[in-house]
Amino acid sequence: MISALDALALLRDGNRRFVADDRSHDAVASRTRPIELAARQEPFAAILGCSDSRVPVEIVFDQGLGDLFVIRVAGNIVAPSQVGSVEFAAERYGTRLVVVLGHSNCGAIGATLEQLQRPKENQSHNLHSIVDLIRPSVEDLLATDLRYDLNELVHQAVRANIRVSVNHLRHGSEIIEQLVRGDGLLVVGAEYSLETGVVDFFDGVPEQW
Ligand SMILES: [Zn+2]
Repeated sequence: MISALDALALLRDGNRRFVADDRSHDAVASRTRPIELAARQEPFAAILGCSDSRVPVEIVFDQGLGDLFVIRVAGNIVAPSQVGSVEFAAERYGTRLVVVLGHSNCGAIGATLEQLQRPKENQSHNLHSIVDLIRPSVEDLLATDLRYDLNELVHQAVRANIRVSVNHLRHGSEIIEQLVRGDGLLVVGAEYSLETGVVDFFDGVPEQW
């Protein structure tokens, strides 16, 4: 089992390689790895990321088959199935690091802001369920002067939404709370920059790290 802090270091180093355009040649798929992995897996981190096509998790962290347990949903929101997925990774595979990975200029955040400012009546029920989960993170920001600065508003809303998802996962179930208290499970928040490729771990990272 890889500790949460060692897992963080692996992700940070992998992202540095990605940014430097120095990715491992066999990172995403090698021919022999699937056979080794057929019987077992031991992903060292679970990542809850956004579905955005520009943020493929294994690539931005320069990791390969079997390394990451990835959950992706528009707006990196937390609903019961995401909590269950994290429980599954932690209990079944011993994964000790969970990262909520949002990103700059997130379309789901933008859609939520639009819906709050100019509500559409005919929005699909399913899409509405995503907007409803993001809404509490951004509503308070819309009540401040940030509403006059769209770029800063989206930036702050992305971070607020990541913090809410981190908090929700940390307290999403008794199983996860116990793993955090007694088994070294760490849940952190990070933002990927579409502009630079850099992942900034900004929430829940221990100070000495
Ligand atoms: Zn997004």
